[in-house]
Amino acid sequence: MNLKIFGLNLGFITNLYHAENTLQQNFEKGRIYVCSPTWVILGGEKKILVDTGYPSVEWFNNHIPKSKSGSFWQRAERKPDQELIPALGKIDLKPEDIDIVINTHLHFDHCGQNDKFKNSKFIVQRKEYINAFRPFTGFEWAYANPLAFPGEMPPFWGTNFTFIEGDTKIVDGVKCITIPGHSPGEHGVLVDTAKGKYFLAGDLFPTTENWERKIPTGYISDLNEWYRSYDKVLTLNAKVISHHCATNFEGVDVLELG
Ligand SMILES: [Zn+2]
Ligand SMILES: [Zn+2]
Repeated sequence: MNLKIFGLNLGFITNLYHAENTLQQNFEKGRIYVCSPTWVILGGEKKILVDTGYPSVEWFNNHIPKSKSGSFWQRAERKPDQELIPALGKIDLKPEDIDIVINTHLHFDHCGQNDKFKNSKFIVQRKEYINAFRPFTGFEWAYANPLAFPGEMPPFWGTNFTFIEGDTKIVDGVKCITIPGHSPGEHGVLVDTAKGKYFLAGDLFPTTENWERKIPTGYISDLNEWYRSYDKVLTLNAKVISHHCATNFEGVDVLELG
């Protein structure tokens, strides 16, 4: 296929503890600086975008709890050219041009700007949507569930989803592959490009060391499922792209894959 993937950084997130992304390993590294990107798949019958980033810096920083010492657990930062419209403009697109938005899962940093895509069909696993309304303890904030933020609705509220169940072909060369473990209904996106297969792994592997060193993410819904999903990704024989890895964007404004 002649598909190509373009990665666009929609902002940074600083985590207080690197260990949060790596199941309490790598304490020595302290803070971790990650990015919150979107991925655009072009060259096929539809223009497809994967994940829409967090809503805004103000929203993010107002919704992250402080640690007991009073320091912020996470902080967001978005440069002017990382706002959605200028970011998409780097590849000559506007939000209205996107035919299909795939949300890998419904944590707020993956569906935060769904409302800006007026002409798109939205795809998510039915299981993920159901779980977003009754997350287990500790994950209410990640879904921006009213249990964590009384009186508010999550950023995906109002999105008119098309639900899928299980591994599903979206268009020729683009397939959603279920990878539960970080969240119960997460799927990644397998893309068949001219230069081979790429797998956009969502938060199963937020950083490359989760994938390369087989270290589960610290945010985990089911550890056994995480290991099973890891093995499933191995069978795809694809180049794996870790969603939040800031090194993906070191020295590049637009990351071109395929
Ligand atoms: Zn997540
Ligand atoms: Zn995330």
